[in-house]
Amino acid sequence: MRSISEQQQSLFELLKSDQPDHVGQEKAVQQLEQLKKTCLECSLCDLRSGCRQVVFGDGNPHARLMLVGEGPGADEDRLGIPFVGRAGQLLNRILEAAEIQRDQVYIANVVKCRPPANRLPLQAEVDTCLPHLKEQIKIINPDIIVCLGSLATRTLIDKNLLITHSRGQWHEKDGRCFIATFHLAALLRDPGKKKAVWEDFKQVMISYHKD
Ligand code: URA
Repeated sequence: MRSISEQQQSLFELLKSDQPDHVGQEKAVQQLEQLKKTCLECSLCDLRSGCRQVVFGDGNPHARLMLVGEGPGADEDRLGIPFVGRAGQLLNRILEAAEIQRDQVYIANVVKCRPPANRLPLQAEVDTCLPHLKEQIKIINPDIIVCLGSLATRTLIDKNLLITHSRGQWHEKDGRCFIATFHLAALLRDPGKKKAVWEDFKQVMISYHKD
């Protein structure tokens, strides 16, 4: 039988080995808060002067799965949360069908300020905002990233990818798994894309629930 001091020692070892994870998680929350503050104060491109507020991101700071869209729309600009409009409601339904809880994932956009009249962000705006997104990804450290639409796909996976050809395929980059699918706004415009998006999310679902 182990002596009391041996038992205490192994308990101590156990607690000690738990510590880095917990400390690391606390640190991630703080780093994300700091980054959010930086983004809320950012006015490095013209988008900030044309929008109501910066939409930083939403969800679990320790998420294994991150979803990245294009940029905030009118509803997101009003509420300060990504994917809360019609596309967001569709995303909620897809996540529910995939048995993925929205509050367990992290959702962000390539650009954090709404482009005027929902136009596609200009390359210069993407380039200016990208360091924020890269830092956000680094802090959250997800295993899986779903790129919603062409802009997120080209920005995060490969600038030459065509969404029509590349959707549904896994790409490994920087130790993470990326998958592209159509943007949900495109799905709202063209319900014919529904099957493809569901096929892509089924893959995400399998991968997400695997470990
Ligand atoms: N479309 C996006 O790309 N992002 C949002 O947050 C909402 C709609």
